[in-house]
Amino acid sequence: MGETTKIEWTDHTFNPWIGCTKVSPACDGCYAEHMMDHRYGRVQWGAGEDRKRTTPGNWRKPIAWNKAAAAKAESTYVFCASLADVFDNEVDPLWRWDLFKLIEATPHLTWLLLTKRIGNVVKMTDPANGCRPLPRNAAIGASLPNQEEYDRDRMKLWEVKQRLQPVFTFGSFEPLLSHIILDKHAPDWVIVGGETDQGSHKARHMESEWAWVLMRQTRELGRSFFLKQMTNKAPIPDGLLIREFPT
Ligand code: SF4
Repeated sequence: MGETTKIEWTDHTFNPWIGCTKVSPACDGCYAEHMMDHRYGRVQWGAGEDRKRTTPGNWRKPIAWNKAAAAKAESTYVFCASLADVFDNEVDPLWRWDLFKLIEATPHLTWLLLTKRIGNVVKMTDPANGCRPLPRNAAIGASLPNQEEYDRDRMKLWEVKQRLQPVFTFGSFEPLLSHIILDKHAPDWVIVGGETDQGSHKARHMESEWAWVLMRQTRELGRSFFLKQMTNKAPIPDGLLIREFPT
C-alpha cells in the first residue's frame, strides 16, 4: 500500500492503515471501499468495523523515499492516506502517534494529510489530549466538494493553518459537485477534479463552468490551482489544464 502513485498531484501514496466510514457526499463513490469489495475483500467498511494496519515493510518505504528525496532540489510529496482517513475517530490514537513519528523521521518529504474530518485535526494533534503534535513537514487538506461543505469547513481548515502552521493547506474540490464561491479563507492550494464511475456508482457530472469559476477565483485570491481531471477523464478544455503546486 506504499507506492509510486498514479495520482497526478503527488509523488507517492502511503497508507498506514486501511478502512474508514463514509461521512461526506464526497464519500458516496469511495474508491477505497469499492477496491476492498471487488479486488481485495480484506477490510469491511463502516462504523464499528476494524481498521487494518499495514505491514512493517510498508512502513519502511517512506524511509527509502526520504533518502532519495534528500538528493533532489524540488519537494517530494507523499499523499497519506488514499484508503483511510488519518483523523478517523475509530483509529487507535497510538497508530496516529506512530505515523507522526514516521513523518518526523522523513524530513525531506512533504506529507499531504487529506481528511474529511477537518474538525478533528486540532484536538487530535494537541499534546494536552495526549496526542503527538502535527509534524513540521505535514500539509493539511480538507475535502470541499460543494458550497455547503466549503461554507461549513473552510474556517476549520483556516484554524488549523493559524494554530498548527502546516507547510500549507489544500482543498480537495473532488469530486466537484456544485458551483462554489470562495473567500479569503480559501486554502493555499485548490485541487479540482471530476468523479469517475466506480462499479454501480455512476460518476456525478462536473460542469466545466464550475472548474473555470474556481480557477478564476483562485487567481484573484493568489492561490495555486491544479485541475486533476474532468468527469470520467473526459478531455480537459483548452486553458483549464493548469497544474500548479504551492510555492
Ligand atoms: S473519507 Fe475517504 S476513505 Fe473514508 S469513506 Fe470517505 S472517501 Fe472513503
